[in-house]
Amino acid sequence: MGYDSKPRVLILGGNFAGLQIARHVRELVGEKAEITVIDRRSYLLFVPNIPMEIFEDRDPTPNLQLPLSPVLSKDNTRFIQAEVKEIDPNKKVVTFLPFERPGSTIDKISYDFLVVALGNRLAFENIEGYKDYGHTLTDLYQADKFRRYLEYDYKGGPVAVGSARFHQGERGRLDFIPIALAACEGPPVEASLSLAYWLEKNHKGTAKNITIFTPAKMIAEDAGEAIVSQLLNIAGSMGFNYKNNLEDIKRITKDGIEFANGESIEAELKVIFPDWVPHDFLKGLPICDEKGFVIHNVEMRNPDFPEIFTAGDAAAGTVPKLGSIGHLQSYIVARQIAKDLKSLSSEEADTELYNPQVICYGDMGGGKAFYIHSNTYYGGKTSILKMGKSYYDMKLAFKHQYFAMGGKIPHWQWTMGTLLGDKVSF
Ligand SMILES: Cc1cc2nc3c(=O)[nH]c(=O)nc-3n(C[C@H](O)[C@H](O)[C@H](O)COP(=O)(O)OP(=O)(O)OC[C@H]3O[C@@H](n4cnc5c(N)ncnc54)[C@H](O)[C@@H]3O)c2cc1C
Repeated sequence: MGYDSKPRVLILGGNFAGLQIARHVRELVGEKAEITVIDRRSYLLFVPNIPMEIFEDRDPTPNLQLPLSPVLSKDNTRFIQAEVKEIDPNKKVVTFLPFERPGSTIDKISYDFLVVALGNRLAFENIEGYKDYGHTLTDLYQADKFRRYLEYDYKGGPVAVGSARFHQGERGRLDFIPIALAACEGPPVEASLSLAYWLEKNHKGTAKNITIFTPAKMIAEDAGEAIVSQLLNIAGSMGFNYKNNLEDIKRITKDGIEFANGESIEAELKVIFPDWVPHDFLKGLPICDEKGFVIHNVEMRNPDFPEIFTAGDAAAGTVPKLGSIGHLQSYIVARQIAKDLKSLSSEEADTELYNPQVICYGDMGGGKAFYIHSNTYYGGKTSILKMGKSYYDMKLAFKHQYFAMGGKIPHWQWTMGTLLGDKVSF
């Protein structure tokens, strides 16, 4: 037990999954537990709106950072800005390096409940030629560099947008989770559509400049075949080029991209989404699969270490690596911890267990967005694709609401938002 003998809940990672779990656990258990969040960053980065900021020609940095400490301290939750170095599930201890200033010494913290919400590392270093010739939208620095390239250097030549191959683990895989060849292909679809709008607006080209590519049989296969064929029809009629089954990116050169299956695409601009790989220190842990993703059951609980939970991109069953899936898992984790702390009954906590759905609002440029709600990838029957100005407004409104509420979107409100997206024709 901690210094005041309360059970200690330790949450590693304070972005979408971690912040929401911290806030919902506090709400559900009150002051029954000591809650600590560790993250190397002092702010939440609102990743899904990076493409929107770039293609509307804004530096994304000022708009997409939510400082963690003011939000967490109001909840009486401790925040430590530190780099997690090691987890010892047998001793229930985490080793970390305080990150505020260089030169700090390693420290340790023990826990009764652990949540691993550390996301993944984006493995750009595995793509030969990326550092010299690639661009991306995955973080503020890279995205703003891309925006500056578009504004000052891009000459209007061919563009290729797509993903490197994703490597998923098999050990402990839930039987309803398919094996994916790309980690998350909403962003390349969104980037292609928005970029086409940007090219026209800036008189640098049209959708015909752009080739969308995928290592898989079908781009964004997690959206389901019906939605993808609708999207491909629309993209084809706009003039986009499309290449599939490319297996992986072999190398990027000044003039284009070479693929593992022997094909290549000529491109002046190469917009790349890399492999999402687990952090090195997770590999080899008994809570992880052979790649380093955290194994869990439908309660988001590790079967061998039931006091360890996971959510978001770090979880083995988050396929695709989509924030909205992590969002739903976070409610589950919070309720399970509340159950273990006897703040919720089993009936209350177990009403919703992991049952993935793909929910995605993607920018299309020109103040329009697409909305996808589908679970056919996991054997369900929901398959909804909509497009229009109101979905753009909803994407933007979600971010404003998220910041205003400090990452604590009530479950009923999330459900209402999805219902609205599904049912209303705008
Ligand atoms: C361009 C782009 C657009 C996207 N658009 C959408 C979208 O429209 N909708 C959607 O649902 N999803 C979208 N996604 C996916 C979404 O961003 C991720 O699924 C989501 O961020 C995962 O949340 P997370 O909390 O699990 O992990 P992350 O957001 O990766 O957060 C992990 C946290 O852990 C911290 N951390 C990592 N390692 C350590 C360590 N060793 N020590 C301390 N702290 C550490 C990090 O600093 C970070 O704060 C998009 C992704 C990209 C790249």
